[in-house]
Amino acid sequence: MKVICIGRNYRAHAEELGNAAPKEPVFFLKPNTACLYPGQLIRLNPLLGTIHHEVELVVMMDSYAKNVPVNMALGLVASFTLGLDLTARDVQEELKAKSLPWEKAKAFDGSAVLGEVELPMTAGTDLQNMDIQLKRNGQLVQKGHTRDMLFTVAELIAHVSRYMTLEPGDLLFTGTPAGVRPITHGDLLEGYLNGNRVLRAVVE
Ligand code: MG
Repeated sequence: MKVICIGRNYRAHAEELGNAAPKEPVFFLKPNTACLYPGQLIRLNPLLGTIHHEVELVVMMDSYAKNVPVNMALGLVASFTLGLDLTARDVQEELKAKSLPWEKAKAFDGSAVLGEVELPMTAGTDLQNMDIQLKRNGQLVQKGHTRDMLFTVAELIAHVSRYMTLEPGDLLFTGTPAGVRPITHGDLLEGYLNGNRVLRAVVE
């Protein structure tokens, strides 16, 4: 199983970090050891400095996908939830400045926090009509809507599948809306999808 993450898929978030909106999807990987499952605590690694929350719609693949056309891509999705693409921001900025790969900043243990409620894809599911919110200690910190994605979930799956085969159980983090901020010890992070809490995580 692998975790594929999309970067810069909301214009407002790309801009808040000083990046241009991309012309085609930007993606990177996290290993399966990055997954933090419901009930597990987020542990801050002192080597990594400032860690930012990035709340994202996450879809899980149901089937193999290779060169899948856009109009068939959503048929290959099993379920969806919210996740946190935790990011060591200072480390990432340093790596970006040196044109080095991002893994140290993005692929560390526990950096892919998964929601506790996994919703099945049904005929009525519209992944581009999802309101996303993240609260930190009860305060709204990130708010977005999947209609504002630069590339739809179907386009993302189709694009990634032209480069690497997606397998059953693979997770696709679809990019974060604006409002990314640091987390700290004792924080309670709660993610809401269309008003329903689907993610709850505590920082040790
Ligand atoms: Mg992200």
